[in-house]
Amino acid sequence: MNIVKQDRLDEIATDIRQKNVCPDLAKSATQLVMGDGNLDAEIVFIGEAPGKKEDLEGLPFIGASGKFLNGMLASAGMERKDVYITNIVKYRPPNNRDPSAAEKAAFWPYLLEQLEIIHPKVVITLGRHSMEYFFPGQKIGEIHGQPKDVLIGEQELYVIPLFHPAAALYNGSLRQTLVDDFLKVPTLLNELD
Ligand code: URA
Repeated sequence: MNIVKQDRLDEIATDIRQKNVCPDLAKSATQLVMGDGNLDAEIVFIGEAPGKKEDLEGLPFIGASGKFLNGMLASAGMERKDVYITNIVKYRPPNNRDPSAAEKAAFWPYLLEQLEIIHPKVVITLGRHSMEYFFPGQKIGEIHGQPKDVLIGEQELYVIPLFHPAAALYNGSLRQTLVDDFLKVPTLLNELD
């Protein structure tokens, strides 16, 4: 465990609570779900927002989407302990509704701080809600699986946009597309070395 990085991430969580970011979500949610995994990971995954199970247990991607994600990680030769997983919005929206633009905007600076601390080689966005901040105005259906270097503030990030596992779970062709895109990740990662 990287204690220096953990301390800095804990400070972000404290800041979110003290500044009362998204007070309505904070009130309806059980807890803040900051993220989970290896703080020295080469890959950071960014989903949308915690669901019911994530809200109750305080960990991202532990429900049906998480199981699917775990399976894809395994097929690409990885485990959860090798990667870091978080969401753009860190409180569960009521009834799992889509996070609003204001909610995403409120959490965006904190996500950027998390990325700066973890400093991964690759950022993988899962679904359009996190993708749209890295690729404004673009469509997931057109750019999925295509990595790009993006400059955000002072951070140069190598970002791969993928479909969200929840969207792919019940749609066979989307599922295959996501699995195929996912299998390219280890090669893309190796090419960076
Ligand atoms: N879907 C997400 O986007 N994030 C989670 O943590 C769980 C499901």
